[in-house]
Amino acid sequence: MERARATVVGGGLAGCEAAWQLLRAGVEVELHEARPALQSPAHAGLLLGELVCSNSLRSAAPDTASGLLKTELRRAGSLILAAAERARVPAGSALAVDRQAFAAHLSWALLRQRGFHLRRHALERLPDGPAILASGPLTSPGLSATLGRLLGGALHFYDAIAPIVDGASLDWSQVFLGERGAEGGDYVNCPLDRAGYDALCDALRRGRCLPPHPFEEPRYFEGCLPIEVMAARGDDVLAHGPLRPVGLVDPRTGQRPYAVVQLRAEDEARSSFNLVGFQTRLVRSEQRRIFRERIPGLAGARFLRYGSIHRNTYLDAPRQLGRELELRAAPGVRVAGQLSGVEGYLESTAIGLLAGLFLAAELGGARLEPPPRTTALGALLNHLVRPRARDERFEPQNVAFGLLPALGPKQPRDKGKRRLALCARASAELTPWLARVGSVVQSTRALFVPDEPARSSPSQP
Ligand SMILES: Cc1cc2nc3c(=O)[nH]c(=O)nc-3n(C[C@H](O)[C@H](O)[C@H](O)COP(=O)(O)OP(=O)(O)OC[C@H]3O[C@@H](n4cnc5c(N)ncnc54)[C@H](O)[C@@H]3O)c2cc1C
Repeated sequence: MERARATVVGGGLAGCEAAWQLLRAGVEVELHEARPALQSPAHAGLLLGELVCSNSLRSAAPDTASGLLKTELRRAGSLILAAAERARVPAGSALAVDRQAFAAHLSWALLRQRGFHLRRHALERLPDGPAILASGPLTSPGLSATLGRLLGGALHFYDAIAPIVDGASLDWSQVFLGERGAEGGDYVNCPLDRAGYDALCDALRRGRCLPPHPFEEPRYFEGCLPIEVMAARGDDVLAHGPLRPVGLVDPRTGQRPYAVVQLRAEDEARSSFNLVGFQTRLVRSEQRRIFRERIPGLAGARFLRYGSIHRNTYLDAPRQLGRELELRAAPGVRVAGQLSGVEGYLESTAIGLLAGLFLAAELGGARLEPPPRTTALGALLNHLVRPRARDERFEPQNVAFGLLPALGPKQPRDKGKRRLALCARASAELTPWLARVGSVVQSTRALFVPDEPARSSPSQP
């Protein structure tokens, strides 16, 4: 019997995850990826699934919303999560990865699949269905224009990238290893006293930034504000935010510093480090000057990548997408990833997974119900497609407990216990949905094996 075929546009996190789910359902996939011929302002490599900024997929702690989403993705057989776990580097409770190893794992897992066809070019028109559009926040200009014409304008906001410094260029006598409120020493901490902190904030506020884009007032995502914007919001904003010293004691003084700049390893060899929270639109010479002068340990820092700022395109999902992520204006095309209106690596992956499963079910002649709203997967999907009042503005969203329905009158008062109860409910309610995923897709496509992590890992696809 001839295999069903589908098109995926974009070989990022969402596109790769969607392709993987389709392949597991026995669907033949043609994936169009613009790189390397057309690089976005943030991408630089050749591999699929390139992480453009931080190498962290955020907390893996079981009582956090991102930890819950990871558990659900793992149970649903996510390729991205399996690749991340294989490429993990030490970062305390966060799931941080060696970005090269991560992209290599997942590229290899896809490329070795029978039925996977990679086309290296930018698709500037809307694909013919059945298709999944996952061209990301930096969708190529031609395709953005196509979408703009179809949808009457796409929304956008601005996102910023943090700098990376060479580990060999750090002054290790000025810094100490440690993790906030936990044993272990995965992070490099650059300690600041009150005067040093004030001087850093002052320099950030006065630093020269790139001019705003013509005719556009930058509107930043609150979860990823440029460091200088945070500094400008008030004297204590950084000390209570990315520079908070809670649970850290400098072993050289036995004291808690007033603030710390944290560096997170980019690779297992710890040869390079990301300045956590230092996404910025300062011009490069100002980044070099301010960070070298004002951050202890960075006086001789060699910058492997500078911070920068980029446009971030997304759709008005509640108005433009149907319940299964299909474009109302072109129902054969589903939208996944950041373009669909979620924010973040894992969230983009989650919507890629759902779009892939919905399409796989449809191609098998069945219909897959959305996951329950009480799960992280269902809550994210609901955030996208829930109908809004005419004047209610749609904002992209990271996964958060606030997206899940409350527990009811008997919910625990203690925040930690409440979170654990939300996770337990999500876990219980995901199980029957995963069983439906298995029966719907497996009944038509024998290749699909849900809930089997070994099969979904890159080396044993
Ligand atoms: C500058 C920046 C920094 C970010 N930093 C973080 C961060 O630190 N942490 C975090 O969690 N999230 C971050 N995000 C948000 C977001 O989670 C990531 O961008 C994530 O990679 C989105 O996944 P995606 O699959 O939707 O898009 P992407 O991973 O960007 O993948 C889209 C792919 O589509 C390709 N493509 C584009 N146009 C075409 C076309 N016409 N034809 C074919 N292929 C095309 C691109 O080359 C790319 O490979 C950042 C976003 C931006 C823009």
